[in-house]
Amino acid sequence: MGQIVVLDQNMVNMIAAGEVIERPASVVKELMENSIDAGATKIMVSIEDGGRKLISVADNGCGMDGEDLARAFEPHTTSKIKTSKDLLGISTLGFRGEALASIASVAQVKATSRAKGQDGANCIEIDCGSKGEISPASADYGTTIQIRDIFYKLPARRKFLRTANTEMGHIAEQFTRIALANNSLDLTLIHNGRELYRLSDKDNLHRRIAELSPIPSSGISENLIETESNEKGLHILALMGKPSISRTSKKFQYIFLNGRFIRDKFISHAINEAYRGLLEPNRFPIVFLFIRMPYEDYDVNVHPTKSEVRFYNANFVHSQILGCLREKLLGTDLHIPAKLPGTTGLPQSREGPAPGHRSQAIADAMAEFFKKHRPVQTQEQFSYKSKQHLVALHPPTGQIPENHTGPATTSALRATTDSAPTSAETSQPVPKIRSEERKFMQIHDSYIVVQTDDGFDIIDQHALHERIIYEDLCRRIQKSKLESQKLLIPESFEVTPSGADALKNNAELLEKLGIELVPFGPKTMAIQAFPTLLSKADPLDFVQDLIDLLDRKDVNLDGERLLDEVLNMAACKAAIKAGQRLTMSEIEQLLWDKENAESASRCPHGRPTTIKFSISDLEKQFKRT
Ligand code: ADP
Ligand code: MG
Repeated sequence: MGQIVVLDQNMVNMIAAGEVIERPASVVKELMENSIDAGATKIMVSIEDGGRKLISVADNGCGMDGEDLARAFEPHTTSKIKTSKDLLGISTLGFRGEALASIASVAQVKATSRAKGQDGANCIEIDCGSKGEISPASADYGTTIQIRDIFYKLPARRKFLRTANTEMGHIAEQFTRIALANNSLDLTLIHNGRELYRLSDKDNLHRRIAELSPIPSSGISENLIETESNEKGLHILALMGKPSISRTSKKFQYIFLNGRFIRDKFISHAINEAYRGLLEPNRFPIVFLFIRMPYEDYDVNVHPTKSEVRFYNANFVHSQILGCLREKLLGTDLHIPAKLPGTTGLPQSREGPAPGHRSQAIADAMAEFFKKHRPVQTQEQFSYKSKQHLVALHPPTGQIPENHTGPATTSALRATTDSAPTSAETSQPVPKIRSEERKFMQIHDSYIVVQTDDGFDIIDQHALHERIIYEDLCRRIQKSKLESQKLLIPESFEVTPSGADALKNNAELLEKLGIELVPFGPKTMAIQAFPTLLSKADPLDFVQDLIDLLDRKDVNLDGERLLDEVLNMAACKAAIKAGQRLTMSEIEQLLWDKENAESASRCPHGRPTTIKFSISDLEKQFKRT
């Protein structure tokens, strides 16, 4: 006798429910999406006990007549597609026709609906798959669906529900995604009679983000950078959080495709790449990315909850997003404004100290300093003699030449300018850095304080120099290999067999870097030539660390990524250190290079190089205003 039987329809629905209806939040998502597909402009979601007791979604959409209402809860019933051709360009959020049937197979459902133009409403009740009769009811235009006691006949599933708070968290997240994608809808979320969100249909995107944001609304708006692009039918709108409001998880990266929240590896990768070097390790940007493209250019029918899609031209999508975001980030002043006590800055994130907590300490110290030494005239306090490590740069009469080379260089900074002719060599006047007088000083042999138009900056000398060298290295290595010089006496070192392998496998990279190694014995190698740009770094130390990096088993970096890591390391080793006293011209050189750097606000590891203080903040602090 055969063992195989055909499952009855309710079993089929329950199995489908296992895929689509994971928890109360999935019900909220499916019902809200149905309301949006029905053209609703107003949706009210009411929850009791984290969704265990009740999930109710009421809309003012097109509604259903009695016949449709009875049919909507049957499996594979939909009004959104008719033929297989329709699958090629789905413009609605739903199309699989299984959400209502799945939900009705695992809970008690009551649905009331009135279609436009109908005199009265109809109502139907379904209890875990057993359907009652359609009966007349009184209700406004639109649809209300109430789900009670989810999974009550499935103790195993019900057991997996978490506390009301946790389930409510998931519901709020689904609500947030839909609310972000639909800022012109009037949306309300209520839990146990308490209103959690009431969002107006007049919201613009910024306002909506501020209302739903985990960061208090005073902080997020001024920390979002907006950019837009439209190329070959691909429209991108991005609101990108500045690095200063980065988070410890990717949770605050919202990607929407034609109004649908999606997750996508390609797009996440593009976002990460766009922020490369602007964030510290293990920090993730806040990003709201809205993509519009023809429905025919991707497939949503690849995942039961439709949270993943397949792009037909994923490379194009990736490169457009990366280009759009990166260009905007690099063109934006990302310097961190100082947070003085009592002035309104960004509130600290809830996830512990913000990336700038070190800078906060400096800001506090500076505020303290200024309190103690209250200036009679702010300007004059800077006018020490150069002996005291403070000078004023007076603008020279000459203009900045087109291909300026910066002021004469001195030892500590040679790494950045070795093969560039100095101004002395080209006999050009020391170029003017700013049109007005600029004053600066080095403090604690580690930081440089510079007067700016509207206040002053404090620069971390190591972080800034690291960024400058890094950019220089990137530029040069893109053109050709790095220039190197032979060591007078080759430096030898011992190498493990796997280290030797790593070197052999990366011969091309070594060549590009201008590092020449020769075997010197069975387990010994010698460095014969080393890049000129890294003359500040110790060759032996550098090569050892390079071997460690290349030999790291845990990473599988592509060529470009690996090169980037190597250049990062090189820049760090070649840069001036904290605690190193600089001469006036070294500081001048650094400031000059800063002006010409592509992205001087962050070191290559994403730490800030500069904190900005504004006179207006100081004046507030000193109660001058
Ligand atoms: P799908 O959304 O994939 O079509 P569902 O099971 O979610 O499948 O819904 C089945 C059908 O019921 C929909 O195609 C739609 O015609 C109708 N429907 C569901 N919810 C609503 C609603 N809130 N307003 C009007 N019609 C609805
Ligand atoms: Mg649906």
